Amino acid sequence: MLSLMKLPRVFTINQVPKVFHEDSIISGYRHPRSSATDCILSLFQLTNETLNIWTHFLPTWYFLWKLVTVVLIQTAWQDSFTWPLLVFLLSCCIYPLASSCAHTFSSMSARARHICFFFDYGALSFYSLGSAITYSAYVFPDKWVNSFFHRCYVPIAVLNTVICTSVACYSRYGETMYFTEFPECQSPKFSKYLRVVAFAYPYLFDNIPLFYRVFLCVGEGCTDNDTNILHYNHIALALLTGFLFATHLPERLAPGSFDYIGHSHQLFHVCGILGTHFQMKAIEQDMVTRRPWLLEQSIPNTFTNSLGAALFCVVVNFTIIILYSLPLLSFELPAK
Ligand SMILES: [Zn+2]
Repeated sequence: MLSLMKLPRVFTINQVPKVFHEDSIISGYRHPRSSATDCILSLFQLTNETLNIWTHFLPTWYFLWKLVTVVLIQTAWQDSFTWPLLVFLLSCCIYPLASSCAHTFSSMSARARHICFFFDYGALSFYSLGSAITYSAYVFPDKWVNSFFHRCYVPIAVLNTVICTSVACYSRYGETMYFTEFPECQSPKFSKYLRVVAFAYPYLFDNIPLFYRVFLCVGEGCTDNDTNILHYNHIALALLTGFLFATHLPERLAPGSFDYIGHSHQLFHVCGILGTHFQMKAIEQDMVTRRPWLLEQSIPNTFTNSLGAALFCVVVNFTIIILYSLPLLSFELPAK
């Protein structure tokens, strides 16, 4: 069936506008004005985006299956202790889905590309809030439970989400201005740097209680249990994910050699998903083993500090994305 369809041809870096260029990727580009059908067909054709799409599309179903299991089998809606886990699992479904959609449709136009990645950044920022909500509910070390920091932690994480989405979208918006040669331009390198900071900062903040628990805490109340090994796995993979995103290795060492298979963005997706998998396992294990103690000692899980915070974040992120997208819709981006 597929062989009967005419698959769109692919292009080299010199044949597509600059805005579509990827660092050290020389070939395998799709047409910069692809139709939606061409974009979907490109899932079944080897381009430099194909594995970027699949490495996030398939895991979406894995996390969706986890979410459905928790909702249906554990009847999570009736148990407010489980609500933070629901938010986390929802964020684990949304971020790979948004990313695979962004990678699928990013070759429709320069404008579509920017808007697609605004949604990708919004979803990643929502995932960071999902992590913070579950850490507050299940992962905080005994010593810090009910402390002043613990009570401020989720509200600060909500604020961080707003900052992270705004800065990440601004980084891409600034890049747009660069390519349209507006006077307030900034270089793509600076945009990339800004984006790394926008995602590293909330990740580091979210992990303060975990890093303290597994690396620094000594004596009583450190929650030194069997789950820590899962947390170590997640942290190691998260570091590797950040490293791949920032360095563009291995393709930077041999430009053109990893265009289709093995470039840093694919590895970045795979490490990110594996990290999320271990993070989910660790959260679930902490949730089960610490449940009686947490129910007695910790801040109660309410609608406000779990589902409500998530809903608020979705609305605010969506508004930020719309605000950044509107100016792009009001003028034609030149195909440079
Ligand atoms: Zn991606």
